[in-house]
Amino acid sequence: MSHLPTHIDFRANTQHVPPHMPPSVQKATTKFLGNRASLVELLGAAQWAALRQAGHDIRWHGITHLDRYLTQLEEQVTRAGGHVHWARDAAEARQIVLDIAQQHNVKSVVKVKSMATEEIDLNHALHDNGIQALETDLGEYIVQLAGVGPSHIIVPAVHLTKEGIADLFHEKLGVDAPPDPIKLAAIARSRLREAFLSAEMGVSGANFMVAETGTIVLVTNEGNGRMCTTLPPLHVAVVGIDKVVPDWESLTVLLKLLARSATGQKISTYTSFITGPRRVEGESGPQEFHLVLLDNGRTRILKDEVARQTMLCIRCGACLNVCPVYNNVGGHAYGWVYSGPIGSILSPQLLGTQVAADLPFASSLCGACADICPVKIPIPDVLLRLRHRVVEGDHVEGPTAPPIIRAAAEVGTTAFGLPGLYRFGSSVLNVIQAPLRRDGWLPDLPPPLNRWTMARPFPAFDNDFRAWWRARAYDKQAPREDRRKIGLALIVAGLLAVVIGRLFRRKDGSR
Ligand code: SF4
Repeated sequence: MSHLPTHIDFRANTQHVPPHMPPSVQKATTKFLGNRASLVELLGAAQWAALRQAGHDIRWHGITHLDRYLTQLEEQVTRAGGHVHWARDAAEARQIVLDIAQQHNVKSVVKVKSMATEEIDLNHALHDNGIQALETDLGEYIVQLAGVGPSHIIVPAVHLTKEGIADLFHEKLGVDAPPDPIKLAAIARSRLREAFLSAEMGVSGANFMVAETGTIVLVTNEGNGRMCTTLPPLHVAVVGIDKVVPDWESLTVLLKLLARSATGQKISTYTSFITGPRRVEGESGPQEFHLVLLDNGRTRILKDEVARQTMLCIRCGACLNVCPVYNNVGGHAYGWVYSGPIGSILSPQLLGTQVAADLPFASSLCGACADICPVKIPIPDVLLRLRHRVVEGDHVEGPTAPPIIRAAAEVGTTAFGLPGLYRFGSSVLNVIQAPLRRDGWLPDLPPPLNRWTMARPFPAFDNDFRAWWRARAYDKQAPREDRRKIGLALIVAGLLAVVIGRLFRRKDGSR
């Protein structure tokens, strides 16, 4: 059975954020941002800008030529002795992995951290079929023990304190666990080592897939990725089709951008390249290698010329680190595996706006995410595009906002388009707001507008802008300085008009 969400209520989720969570998250994100800033400074602003542009161009070329590069990738993986499977959606992908596991009589699986397998809810599917899947990335191991999903793309347990993890280990593993990160890691390591040696199948995702050689690339900071992909006799990689890149030259650019943007490292501790299964007996590596290419809504995302830029993402997590909303509500408020700004644009497109209509609105549109994104995804533009989809519908999906919101949007559009109606509306608002007004603010609006005033007051409508402008321009009491500046500006404009007029007459040859 799948545990995919059927409805995400972002606002309700934010009500359950534990008090310790924002400080834990902010401590980690501040550190990542600081490390990243130092490395960008070291490289120089011009070099970094050029690298970002190159990364953007490579990703854009890749996602707009998926047919070419995925076909090439399939040929190369097959030539290297691997098997390629195509999954249209999450259910198909789960079934493919299950079939492979059952054909090989697999009972235990070790996993590398992978957003694609989180996306298809693979662990529950394996568990429901009697197969134990153990996460081996330390953060994923912790959130699996806690029975929750990851709260950050690259740091799954970022919302937890060391004291919380110690309590969790004590409760779930029955060990005396001190709140010391080194000792906690040692406890996890001793448990995981046994699992690496006994598992019959390793499951991973991939950060990239190189079409020219059929190589999948895993970027990690723990050695677990190599253990999972070399010790068990069977390796299955589930990877989104958007992860394909043309060649090794392109990969070099993206690896530089990924490590610096994610954790502020020049290069991650482990970068593994896997091309098919082992070639000869005695060589390290699995006897069989399967690559499951996951669509699950990605080709639908490509249909929209603005929203398709979401597919450029290399899952570095920098937009989460810099986002003021994410830093205050944490990843679980986003209701699914992808959180922060990338979650706000990716989840509604993968799950549909019927399920995740709230998420494009879970942003202040400050633009910090677009400024930091290493592949230059204009996230605020995509958010606005998706807001439009939710309210008015487009060629990808029909409108999903409640009828009252859509009616209010229609009224707003009409009112702003007709100056007379706008002026009349402004005057009526002045009267309506009078009983609610307190010192120039509206602190307590009635539903549905109280969703705003529950968090902060709304500024009262003072007058319409045109009336204010007219009053200001003709006010006999305006400061003398203002009138002097206006006079000067008029004289300069007059002189310019005379000079330009003369120049034109000369050009014409007229007197
Ligand atoms: S949207 Fe950009 S910043 Fe955010 S995770 Fe993706 S690549 Fe990184």
